[in-house]
Amino acid sequence: MKRLVLASRNPGKLRELQALLQPVQWEVVPQDDLGISEAPEPHPTFVENALSKARHAAAHSAGAALADDSGLCVPALGGAPGVISAHYAGEPKSDERNNRKLVEALRDVKDRRAHYHCVLVLLRSAEDPEPLIAEGRWEGEVVLTPQGSGGFGYDPYFYLPSLGCTVAQLEPAEKNRLSHRALALRRLLELLRAGT
Ligand code: IMP
Repeated sequence: MKRLVLASRNPGKLRELQALLQPVQWEVVPQDDLGISEAPEPHPTFVENALSKARHAAAHSAGAALADDSGLCVPALGGAPGVISAHYAGEPKSDERNNRKLVEALRDVKDRRAHYHCVLVLLRSAEDPEPLIAEGRWEGEVVLTPQGSGGFGYDPYFYLPSLGCTVAQLEPAEKNRLSHRALALRRLLELLRAGT
């Protein structure tokens, strides 16, 4: 069985990635279980940050690593919160303060369309010159009143017009079928199957 280190410390993401990777015959290990510290994410793009996190975990585990860098992008806010989604309202990071800041920023804005963006990077080793990179996007809009208690992060405020509910109102399995992370992972598995 191949071991794959998950380069994340976010419990919500780990939960989703572990469920999504269940059909794959790998031993999936969160980096915390190996005592690997959090990698810096100093870059302005999701792909650069995902690569940096995957390389950090691969180097410290001497094996394969999968990193997710993701966030919420609101075009009316110039793409914010974007790559700083986890830290949008400053330190220490807090979903509650991030959501409050988002709602305040959009209170007088009519166009509240938004999307979640996810980039997954898989490195077979820290020196792998051919990372597998897959992206996924999930379209929705921001609502000013939270609905639902599932998911994590911005989910209670991320409304899906086609389903008439927020992501926090979806069953976990439904989120894992539809999400930006699920889409990116399906694409990543296709790349793996294709032997790229
Ligand atoms: P990262 O760990 O730097 O990639 O930050 C990801 C952040 O983006 C999270 O802390 C959330 O704020 C947001 N985010 C990413 N994916 C989701 C999701 O599926 N639901 C809600 N928020 C998300």
